[in-house]
Amino acid sequence: MNDLRDLYQDMIFDHYRQPRNYGHLEHANRKAEGYNPLCGDKVSITLIVKDGVIDDLKFEGAGCAISTASASLMTESLKGKTEAEALTMLENFKSLVTGGSVNKEMGKLAVLAGVQAFPQRVKCATLAWHTLQAALKNSTEPISTE
Ligand code: ZN
Repeated sequence: MNDLRDLYQDMIFDHYRQPRNYGHLEHANRKAEGYNPLCGDKVSITLIVKDGVIDDLKFEGAGCAISTASASLMTESLKGKTEAEALTMLENFKSLVTGGSVNKEMGKLAVLAGVQAFPQRVKCATLAWHTLQAALKNSTEPISTE
């Protein structure tokens, strides 16, 4: 198990150092911003949703390794998914980081299962997902985890 844990940490660190889909989509039709005051993490997500499918998405912001890696992994996982699939993944992910089991469909997101051991970091891991949910609902209220 130790090797697996190291591998997971490497992947989190890699996504933190080199976040995927980092930036801002000029022609976004959905966007939202989120803030986790507990840790100081900030994230802004822009999406292009076409016919109920997430055609493209990007994130930017500043936060800890967990929040940044989580946002990066999220953008990789959601490209090409329908809005309904994205919301199912959000529920699965929330369950995963709060003690739920890993299911095969989670793919790379499973690397964040280690957050289970650190309840105070759950909000770091879920910030991007809550922000995504707000963007899909087209909420204009900034999202705070508090
Ligand atoms: Zn954080």
